[in-house]
Amino acid sequence: MNKPVLLVVDDDPQVLAAVRRDLRSKYREHYTVVSASSGQEALDTIRELKSRGEPLAMVISDQRMPGMLGHEVLSRSREFYPLARRVLLTAYSDIDAAVKAINEAHLDHYLSKPWDPPEERLFPVIDDLLDAWQAEYLPEEKGLRLVGNQWSPRSHAIKDFLVSSLIPYRWLDLERAPEARPLIDAAKIGANELPALFFEDGSVLRDPEPRAVAERLGRSLSAAHDVYDLVVVGAGPAGLAAAVYGASEGMRTLLLDRHGPGGQAGSSSKIENYLGFPNGVSGSDLTRRALTQAQRLGAEFLAPLEVCGVKIDEGYKRVTLADGRELVARTIVAATGMSYREHPAEGMTAHMGAGVYYGAATTEAPAFAGRRVVIVGGGNSAGQGAMYLAKYAKEVEIVIRRKDLCDTMSHYLIDQIGKTSSIHVRPRTELTCVDGDGHVERVGLTSMDDGVCKHEPADAVFVFIGAKPRSNWLPADVLRDAKGFVLTGRELMAAEGYARLWKQKREPMLLETSVPGVFAAGDVRAAAMNRVASAVGEGSMVVRLAHEYLALT
Ligand SMILES: Cc1cc2nc3c(=O)[nH]c(=O)nc-3n(C[C@H](O)[C@H](O)[C@H](O)COP(=O)(O)OP(=O)(O)OC[C@H]3O[C@@H](n4cnc5c(N)ncnc54)[C@H](O)[C@@H]3O)c2cc1C
Repeated sequence: MNKPVLLVVDDDPQVLAAVRRDLRSKYREHYTVVSASSGQEALDTIRELKSRGEPLAMVISDQRMPGMLGHEVLSRSREFYPLARRVLLTAYSDIDAAVKAINEAHLDHYLSKPWDPPEERLFPVIDDLLDAWQAEYLPEEKGLRLVGNQWSPRSHAIKDFLVSSLIPYRWLDLERAPEARPLIDAAKIGANELPALFFEDGSVLRDPEPRAVAERLGRSLSAAHDVYDLVVVGAGPAGLAAAVYGASEGMRTLLLDRHGPGGQAGSSSKIENYLGFPNGVSGSDLTRRALTQAQRLGAEFLAPLEVCGVKIDEGYKRVTLADGRELVARTIVAATGMSYREHPAEGMTAHMGAGVYYGAATTEAPAFAGRRVVIVGGGNSAGQGAMYLAKYAKEVEIVIRRKDLCDTMSHYLIDQIGKTSSIHVRPRTELTCVDGDGHVERVGLTSMDDGVCKHEPADAVFVFIGAKPRSNWLPADVLRDAKGFVLTGRELMAAEGYARLWKQKREPMLLETSVPGVFAAGDVRAAAMNRVASAVGEGSMVVRLAHEYLALT
């Protein structure tokens, strides 16, 4: 395999030579820098690279070129290399055009000319984008390969674990991928041993549990210490932020997650409203950055590892893990967020992982190329899921009980959905049954106006409906509201049981629960804002409160 290509496009020979020179000076060891002097030449080069099966990591194009503008070159390059990073070179006067082109061309960045000194204004941007590309890119003949049946819940569980753990892999559906059968025959793998995970060195794990995969990949599942200043349970945005701040402020910090890092946000294909990312950021990219930051600052991260209980022992908190081990924490942050509510339609449980998926649009979307899928729910997560699935599926049907999406979805998503011809919204409708032979083949959609149920073909149902808090691992003394969300700070003081439980001379701190030193942040907390930014904000604040608590003890 040749080195991945960085393609530079500019009609000005001097600028082209300057970018090429700067890029070669820094990246030539690992990348080949190729140039084109017009949009048409760039597209020809891209087609040629594709036909030779060569990897393209990045396209950097000038905006103002005769014949074809830069953002069009970048936009068209997506058809061939959807993962390649796209950068627009703009003059100061073109910045408005660049900002407008962000959505259309799916720009990852725009760079204003000139970029001197490149060490400050060019290389940090390119490094960052290439890191993100490397995290997603998997060379054909290298890396992990997972072989299994598309309709197997076991296959879905491993795919979901690999995706949420940010581990690139290649999925080989036994029914569709020609290379799948020879692989399992050569390794003598029986049908009941699927899915099978093949490693680069030729070794195989047969029908593994996520934990076994993590161990095989060299991820430690044992805490390095017995006692921690801060144990953060849940590695969604709130937990990741708490780990970053805890570690950066010198606390011995452990972050745990039952699944992988990222939480709900990790499953988002594009978060558009998080400050500082004008082009939006994918949940996996944000997670990768946050986890790297937490670990670089010294936080320890263990996953998949579920916390199933906490006992309070004279101020110390004994944290029980699902594998029976115990850790001691001086303070705990509960950042366990929410999970989707199960949908009550007939046949949903029987088809779980075999065409019925909760969230999981980014994990499963490629498998539904050319098929018809149904989305249940009208919130932003459903909208993002629909947009992502529409990249692959032939038809995406959004089923909602309300008359439209206006009250439940952000305008930018409603606009995007309106412009996508393969997405249809089905208002005042309920999913009432799911049916099929071993996997989803049909759905029953019932009109809320006349009660008539229509049975229609569908290959999958993706559920994005209201969520329930994950708070049942906390001790009974941690007060919750009627729905199970954790009460903190002043809200606690009005709760039944507060006077009986709270024996401190001080009031509970802002994010403190009814057990001193146990805090809650993010979506698991009553009155949370259910946004990435607010979860990150609470995760960051909570560390200061944990410090204050430790200073009092
Ligand atoms: C598809 C989707 C798209 C979204 N898009 C946006 C958006 O564009 N903008 C926006 O602002 N918000 C968005 N949201 C909402 C946002 O993602 C959430 O508000 C945010 O993730 C909440 O963060 P959190 O850390 O509180 O909890 P979560 O993200 O729910 O993370 C909780 C973590 O705790 C772990 N956990 C649970 N129980 C245990 C246990 N017992 N032991 C160990 N670990 C445990 C879980 O595995 C999970 O990783 C979206 C949500 C979804 C689902």
